[in-house]
Amino acid sequence: MKLYEQQELHIYNSLSKTKEKFIPIHEGAVGMYVCGPTVYSNVHLGNCRTFLSFDLVFRYLKHLDYKVRYVRNITDAGHLENDADSGEDRIAKKARIEMVEPMEIVQRYTVDFHTTMAQFNALPPSIEPTATGHIIEQIQIIEKIIYEGFAYEVNGSVYFDVHKFNETHNYGKLSGRNLEDMVANTRDLDGQSDKKNPQDFALWKKAEPVHIMRWPSPWSDGFPGWHLECTAMSTKYLGKHFDIHGGGMDLKFPHHECEIAQSEAAMNTDPVNYWMHANMLTLNGKKMAKSTGNNILPFELFSGENDILSKAFSPTVAKFFMYQANYRSMLDFSNEALVASEKGFNRMMEAYKMISEIKSSANSEFDTSKWKQSCYDTMNDDFNSPMLIAQLFEASKVINSAKEGKIALTSEDIETLQKTMHDFIFEVLGLEDTSAGQNNDGDKLSEAVSILIGLRNQARANKDFATSDLIRDQLKEAGINLKDGKDGTSFSLN
Ligand code: AMP
Ligand code: ZN
Repeated sequence: MKLYEQQELHIYNSLSKTKEKFIPIHEGAVGMYVCGPTVYSNVHLGNCRTFLSFDLVFRYLKHLDYKVRYVRNITDAGHLENDADSGEDRIAKKARIEMVEPMEIVQRYTVDFHTTMAQFNALPPSIEPTATGHIIEQIQIIEKIIYEGFAYEVNGSVYFDVHKFNETHNYGKLSGRNLEDMVANTRDLDGQSDKKNPQDFALWKKAEPVHIMRWPSPWSDGFPGWHLECTAMSTKYLGKHFDIHGGGMDLKFPHHECEIAQSEAAMNTDPVNYWMHANMLTLNGKKMAKSTGNNILPFELFSGENDILSKAFSPTVAKFFMYQANYRSMLDFSNEALVASEKGFNRMMEAYKMISEIKSSANSEFDTSKWKQSCYDTMNDDFNSPMLIAQLFEASKVINSAKEGKIALTSEDIETLQKTMHDFIFEVLGLEDTSAGQNNDGDKLSEAVSILIGLRNQARANKDFATSDLIRDQLKEAGINLKDGKDGTSFSLN
């Protein structure tokens, strides 16, 4: 019997604004799409929080024995500076400033993203498609939307006709906005734009002569609108109707609202069953953001090189800190909170390691099966990681008492405690054992190898097999063997 048949998972659906029982479209299989990063600068800890929230979802679904196809894209074109239809392409702008090719920018920050995710021990997605790799699919969707009468071309650009769409569909159903309010709150275009209405959004933009990221299309040499890539890539790999779509809360409108409209217009289908939105990581009470500079970078945290930090923190402790809050709640970053998380994490790991030292008794004074089910109940309740961690702390107390001989446990119960803690700490939360101390050479070795594994994955994704083989072979020479498995790459020492 599969674990998902024994557990009843509920997911908070941003569309219905309620927790709903999770029923996948195809029994035993889950299709999940998450909007990936725009690779024009280093990811900050806020971005990481969103991706780690969905790593937890991915891991738990896999733990429940679902076959999961997890698609997370790389936005390497089309994301303009102000999230709307004007301004410079973020990647092209950075390339212009640094006087390099846009694809050099894309490469540099994709590598940074992969390295960071590997440091956090986040599992790679099943497919990681790029916007520039799916221009043809995007053009095909635009043609379909035009054919269905929901888009129009002006001067080589194509816009989605929101008003026309709203006559027969509900534009705003995800974000809870309605079109009349949007109209009332928007200034007139005064002939400044090609759009019929300010609410319309670009599907294709004709490139200005200076715009270097451009592709041929039936309408002009240009580039696709930002919202379109996610519709193209999610439906290509998951089908026009799939289970879960995730992203940060700030993407709900307009990005995800537009994705729904595009799918409904082109494919006559509401694309997603469960919309999940992760809440923001803040710093000094304000959203961490690239644009305002109000952010902390992962390397600053891992090295302690930031004035607000009293010391370095490991990726695992940072992740533990994030998971001590529900993914739907805001979370404020602070040195004090991290220090507290580190203490809690070490306490939990010390207890976990002590399990093997407990002397078993003939009977038990702690109901381990009930406790084990409570762990599942917390995760079944919309991935409630803080409540799961509370259960793990509860078990830590029991372990400490049992070790001191104050509570009796049978050998079976000791085994259940050990196995359940192991599953939830390492497999579901994806934490790593660094509690032996930051100076432990073994931890440093693991971290160094995981960075190399990240670089090798990157090389493989780029079909640069010479580099990926070189990394594997040289590690082998150094006595470190890489092993590729279904959950990613692990390593062992000779
Ligand atoms: P971007 O690269 O700007 O497209 O962002 C990548 C992801 O990070 C998106 O899902 C955003 O919603 C998310 N994100 C951006 N800022 C934050 C933040 N301060 N906290 C949590 N997630 C964020
Ligand atoms: Zn997206």
